[in-house]
Amino acid sequence: MNTESTPKRQDKPAPPVCYICGRDGANSRDHVIPYSFFKSPRPADMLTLPAHYACHNNFDEEYARVILSGLGSEGSASAKELWDTKTKRSFERSAPLRKSLRSSLVPKIDLISPAGLVFDHTPGIRIETQRFYPLMRKIVQGLYAHHIGELLPRDFRSLWNPNALLELSTDRRRFLEASQFGIIYQEIFGCRYLLVDQGTTDASSVWWLCFYNDAVLRCFIPPRHLWSPRSK
Ligand SMILES: [Zn+2]
Repeated sequence: MNTESTPKRQDKPAPPVCYICGRDGANSRDHVIPYSFFKSPRPADMLTLPAHYACHNNFDEEYARVILSGLGSEGSASAKELWDTKTKRSFERSAPLRKSLRSSLVPKIDLISPAGLVFDHTPGIRIETQRFYPLMRKIVQGLYAHHIGELLPRDFRSLWNPNALLELSTDRRRFLEASQFGIIYQEIFGCRYLLVDQGTTDASSVWWLCFYNDAVLRCFIPPRHLWSPRSK
């Protein structure tokens, strides 16, 4: 039997590409929404994508989880449970985290709508952007790969509003209303997104990430020609 002459019907699968750095040779799979954001029992369909271990292992998930579950703790049972148990444990373990969080929780702020009405009281949070946004950007890269089927380069430009719920009283609400739903994990995470001029050089997109029902961040990815050149 000569197997050499048998034509190969299938090409070897290409080595998986890492969705974070865009290079091939991904040697593990990463939970796009961090595993630690969920409480057990965790959903069976958690989104994972190929990534280099070195690329996905250096985000400060604990810091982001503490911030986001704290923002959501008044409205969501899951957030409350994370806040009451896991978070407390990480506080006990980590004195620096405790100190850093204490300094980021600022006194309650009355949020005044443009019409002058107070419509919310919320703990003001000063986010350490260098600890928080790299993980949020990674999540957007994962959602982009999953929903659009294209990779966003690591240096993509993003403009964030961490209080996107407040925009719903403005005319930006129409963007959210025009958007479509992405993945949803009850009580933990939900995503909506809006693509503008996709497939052209002016393509842009808006992503809403909702954590623990209450913390809604909006990420705008402008057209590529408006991305600033790599600055090193
Ligand atoms: Zn990588």
